[in-house]
Amino acid sequence: MTAAPLADARVALTDVTFQYGSREVLTGFGLVVAPGEVVALLGPSGSGKSTVLRLVLGFAAPAKGSVRLGGELVSHEGRVLVPPEDRHLAVVFQDLALWPHLTVEANLAFGLGKRRSEHEARIQELVSRLGLAGKQKHYPGELSGGERQRVAIARALVMEPRAILLDEPLSNLDVALKRDLLATFRELFEERESTVVYVTHDLREAAELGDRIVVIEDGKLVQEGTLDVLRARPASGFIQRLVEDLSWTARSRT
Ligand code: ADP
Ligand code: MG
Repeated sequence: MTAAPLADARVALTDVTFQYGSREVLTGFGLVVAPGEVVALLGPSGSGKSTVLRLVLGFAAPAKGSVRLGGELVSHEGRVLVPPEDRHLAVVFQDLALWPHLTVEANLAFGLGKRRSEHEARIQELVSRLGLAGKQKHYPGELSGGERQRVAIARALVMEPRAILLDEPLSNLDVALKRDLLATFRELFEERESTVVYVTHDLREAAELGDRIVVIEDGKLVQEGTLDVLRARPASGFIQRLVEDLSWTARSRT
């Protein structure tokens, strides 16, 4: 397995402001993800998390500020300089967007085009690592929710993107399945030294997966650090509530 193209993987948003119409949804927002780092972007619903990903992907441009990938300026002051298809990013959404008319295998190969044969070995490796062996010829409709999510992550990894963006990928799954998949994600990201932005509103997910947690509220960065940092000095009521919920569930489980 080849390692990720490291220096190329840095993701940086600098002083980003973004509006939908007259409504400002990101204000002076900054984020740097180092190559090989897994950052959990945590915030309540409507805080601007998905918008951050849209700007990184190039689906929209920040009104002010810039987005850089591996040092290259890809969006700046209202302009998308490098289009999404040339950014070499992979994305996993909550509603998976697998092709329903294609088998598991064909879904995995979809983004590879003519390069498919070169990647056959990696497709097969991911299929077996993700417990999808025997399901290659199945269609998404014939899989469970957890299996579909495994196909989605396999599809992201098979492209060997410079960075992987995940937008609340586990929100629709039950707790046991969630824990299982989180462990698998962590393992795969560590092995590949993947550069990852993992969006969630769940502090437990953020803490289990992220090297660092970045908290966004109302379009602004509120706090960043490890779970211990958030615990010791929660910078907002939202963080404080999440921290308290976490220790409460931890206690009630023992
Ligand atoms: P999150 O992912 O944290 O839930 P979003 O980034 O999706 O938040 O949305 C941030 C804010 O922008 C929300 O208030 C949302 O209602 C608003 N918003 C999102 N998409 C659009 C859109 N296409 N048009 C107008 N407002 C939008
Ligand atoms: Mg969202």
